[in-house]
Amino acid sequence: MFELPKDYIEEISGIFGAETETYQRLFSQEPYRGLSINRLKASPEKLLPLLPFETKKSPFYRDGYYIMEDVQGLGRHPLHQAGAFYVQEPSAASAVTLLDVQKGDKVLDLCAAPGGKSAQIASCLEGTGLLWSNEVVRNRAQILLSNFERMGIAEGVVSSCYPETLCDTLSGFFDKVLVDAPCSGEGMFRKNPEAVSEWSREHVRACAERQLSILHSAARAVRAGGILVYSTCTFSREENENVVQKFLSEHEEFEPVNVQEPFGRASAVPCGVRITPMDGGEGHFAAKLRRKSGEDADSPALYFSAAKQKPDPLLRTIQQELSAVLKEFPQERLCLMNDRILILPSLYPAVTVSGILRAGVLAGEWRRNRFEPSHALFMSQSPQNFHRVLSLSPDDKRIGDFLRGLEIDCDTVSGYTAAAVSGYVLGFGKCSGGRLKNKYPKGLRLT
Ligand code: SAM
Repeated sequence: MFELPKDYIEEISGIFGAETETYQRLFSQEPYRGLSINRLKASPEKLLPLLPFETKKSPFYRDGYYIMEDVQGLGRHPLHQAGAFYVQEPSAASAVTLLDVQKGDKVLDLCAAPGGKSAQIASCLEGTGLLWSNEVVRNRAQILLSNFERMGIAEGVVSSCYPETLCDTLSGFFDKVLVDAPCSGEGMFRKNPEAVSEWSREHVRACAERQLSILHSAARAVRAGGILVYSTCTFSREENENVVQKFLSEHEEFEPVNVQEPFGRASAVPCGVRITPMDGGEGHFAAKLRRKSGEDADSPALYFSAAKQKPDPLLRTIQQELSAVLKEFPQERLCLMNDRILILPSLYPAVTVSGILRAGVLAGEWRRNRFEPSHALFMSQSPQNFHRVLSLSPDDKRIGDFLRGLEIDCDTVSGYTAAAVSGYVLGFGKCSGGRLKNKYPKGLRLT
């Protein structure tokens, strides 16, 4: 049996009781793996038959699936590169189920990198509302941004701010806020047994303090009547139920929302649910709270409006160039920032927040008096919206070459052309004389 530290076993047996031995025995088995489907691009009916491995529906999320085989290098699969799905530990998807995102919601994902839950939220929003994803650690925020682009999230913002600063600026703005807090990660131990050595009671205590402090900030961002979901991938009561109870005792404006989900097990607070390896997932805790009273900062005056901007003749030129690539796009939301062209989200709050990495979609850049479209633009559109598409079947050898950054044969007319596999856009290139000059970003190329 896998040797777990004595202190940890002592702590965990206070939670798992008679199941502690079962939990220890599970360390000799493979951890659960899963994926969630990106509804911005795909449907289960269309996507699942294209995947070269067996999947099984997971109970934790409407579009969550177990990966039933030991597949390696999933990140290199073309449909993964195309953003049709996100690889995610199955029970990690449960927090977004509790958040119950509805179309049109404005949602803040406060601790968002690498972006699994943001991908789910965007998928539930189906291109409506607003997703604001924040990650305080700068290099992790870059990974978040890259995943945002891969998933094709257009109605969103990626920032790297301190929670207190962001939530003060956007106080009372969001319908739903998710705090998927940094934690001692006990639910990751089967997947990553080396992490066990970092576990200590002091670490658990320090995590609990940090979690409470993030929640204090998050509380401000929730509008009156809005929902706050707190989640961790750990089992510790100190980091889960105790944090929720302390938060509620210090925030009279919040109330617990009792949850009865068809997964996991009851937690010591009725607004929470626990998932353990004995419940079909590696381990997660999520709790749901509602803000009874407070500010509702929503107002039409808050949003970015093109009508308030100074007209820029360059924008008209760019609009024309973009019309040669895309059949349709929201002209009124094009915005020029230095030499970068953005298509802003429709619900973009016009507030000053330093630390915004991206608002909406980077459509392209104005370089040497020319418009150059970006990879992100292509990833945010369906193939039907392009004037030129190179459609590749899954067994076409050109897919591998394209993902390695090579030039490939192309039978479209000249111009910027989307490359798609099975109807999912992979990226783009510039077609000329029967060849596609590859524009797949260097950092993403397969080696
Ligand atoms: N929600 C993410 C997902 O589904 O992919 C996982 C988030 S992870 C559990 C917690 C994140 O919180 C980490 O990316 C970490 O860098 C970030 N973090 C660390 N310290 C933080 C702090 N003091 N305030 C806010 N976030 C913090």
